[in-house]
Amino acid sequence: MKKYVFLLLITFASTPLLAKPLKIATTFTIFADMAKQVGGKHVEVVSITKPGADIHNYQPTPKDIVKLQGADLILWHGLNLELWFDKFYRNVSSIPKVSLTKGIVPLSIDGGAYHDKPNPHAWMSSDNATIYINSIVEALTALAPHHAEDFQGNAQRYEQQIKSAMAGFKKQLAQIPADQRWLVSSEGAFSYLAAELGLKELFIWPINADAQGSPKQIKHVIDQVRANKIGAVFSESTVSDKPAKQVAREANSRYAGVLYVDSLSGPKGPVPNYLSLLTVTTQTIIDGLNKGSQDRSGDETLGASMGASKGASKGASKGIVQ
Ligand SMILES: [Zn+2]
Repeated sequence: MKKYVFLLLITFASTPLLAKPLKIATTFTIFADMAKQVGGKHVEVVSITKPGADIHNYQPTPKDIVKLQGADLILWHGLNLELWFDKFYRNVSSIPKVSLTKGIVPLSIDGGAYHDKPNPHAWMSSDNATIYINSIVEALTALAPHHAEDFQGNAQRYEQQIKSAMAGFKKQLAQIPADQRWLVSSEGAFSYLAAELGLKELFIWPINADAQGSPKQIKHVIDQVRANKIGAVFSESTVSDKPAKQVAREANSRYAGVLYVDSLSGPKGPVPNYLSLLTVTTQTIIDGLNKGSQDRSGDETLGASMGASKGASKGASKGIVQ
């Protein structure tokens, strides 16, 4: 009996500790979702930036420090993504931090003040997603080695879902004429996705941390869209769509919708998790390119019979961009 009571005491004493989930803080919503997918029931996750926020130029508030109280770990990106993080971290430096970009081979930013610096948007490639996910497994396992098997199992299932979703898109893209396989966006945030999908890339500004949509930047893209007869122009959920819409209008192209890259939406929005961010964005690109290439083939038929009217519409839009 005595022994039984003793065992019960041990059980009661240790249960609250074992049952308490790890509190994981992340700098942005994409890592928050990845950490939830890997950690499952063993983690409670908070994101410093909210859904829809711009991650690059975020201004932390005292509330963010409160939000992090009791956190066991902060997962952050690095590679120039969170320009505010080093300063912010001084306020919460008792919490360990782990950058998840170890092992990522960065592509360079092309143009602007950050030219040749690493392009941070590496999560827009499914191969890189695997690297982040494995880094999360490693970080969580270091904190709670007794859950290692759960973390690994969750990660494997998750990686499989991501891989199979992306495989289907590559087949759809192969149906689009090669000269129409362009990805035109506001921010140059899609270099990794464009590389994975075999798309040529064009953007109005290189990174949100820099000037966004100057007349010179807009004119350059209008000229390129016209010269290459690109059928679709996109913009991202965390920036103004005005410059992209102007490009589409003035280059006789089509504004083809919103892409998601720097943030998830809220739980009831179109991209409540990372997998949906990747799939909704890729599907929007494919749908836009399909419609754009139909517009362009219509253009050519029209152009043959009504060349004069096309010239007139180009003339009408002259002078808006200096
Ligand atoms: Zn960005």
